[in-house]
Amino acid sequence: MIRVGRFQILSVINGHCRLDGGAMFGVVPKALWQKKAPPDELNRILLATRTLVAIDEQARRVVLVDTGAGSKWSPEEAQRYAITYDPDALPDALAPFGLTAADVTDVVIAHLHFDHAGGMTTWKDKPGGELGIRFPNARHWVHAKHLEHARNPTLRDQTSFIPRDYEALGERGLLRRVTGDEPEPPFEGVRWRLSHGHTPYQLLPWFEDDQRPLLFVGDMIPTASHLPPAWVMGYDLFPLTTLEEKQRVLQLCADRGLRLAFPHDPEVGGVEVDVASGRPSISRALDI
Ligand SMILES: [Zn+2]
Repeated sequence: MIRVGRFQILSVINGHCRLDGGAMFGVVPKALWQKKAPPDELNRILLATRTLVAIDEQARRVVLVDTGAGSKWSPEEAQRYAITYDPDALPDALAPFGLTAADVTDVVIAHLHFDHAGGMTTWKDKPGGELGIRFPNARHWVHAKHLEHARNPTLRDQTSFIPRDYEALGERGLLRRVTGDEPEPPFEGVRWRLSHGHTPYQLLPWFEDDQRPLLFVGDMIPTASHLPPAWVMGYDLFPLTTLEEKQRVLQLCADRGLRLAFPHDPEVGGVEVDVASGRPSISRALDI
């Protein structure tokens, strides 16, 4: 756990999945990426699905960023991506603070792909039946234009969005739609940064700190292996946009001491970045 401004922050692994290594690294040759992420016999690499937990005790605010793939999968579906999900991971992480899922005040849905948004809901009684909300008292933040895109995806990314993951939240009045290209900060200590390369209007929380702020980078930089600007996922709708967005973020690491938190790295939840050597790499893993 680390302190960033008003918040105590930790990164919780709620599950894992495996995705095709080639798709995860775009134009980077396998000879290079397999040294960082060894593939299995189906050419898939191991990814964690992480939730960033941010607690502001003074304001009694409990913020979760991303929720993992959740447990609404049939065995066949889960097998396709080797999805695992531990429903106790978040409750176990909150318990030492005397908190439960009911105390979560805010859930940030950086984007609505199933491996980030699936954990917001669960089957109440039986698969295919009624949906339960895992954090029933939380406002669930999403950018309005991203929600629009999720409802009208392209043929290229339509399998990444599963309406059961998020439509129930809207029906129960729990979705908080962020608007505009320079959105208002949601609450004290956090402001939004937008990213459009992976998918339009990813909503990335920036945790303010006088010395070293922290940015949850979402799927702009899914793992530490994706720090070099050209290591962009093949999944991205607009890879050149991702590349430019990464360059701007890395510049902030150099100028402002910005720290980064990842959604998918199996080893490290976040890092300080070494940008001086020309090829961005981990300078120090954060103890989150
Ligand atoms: Zn994604």
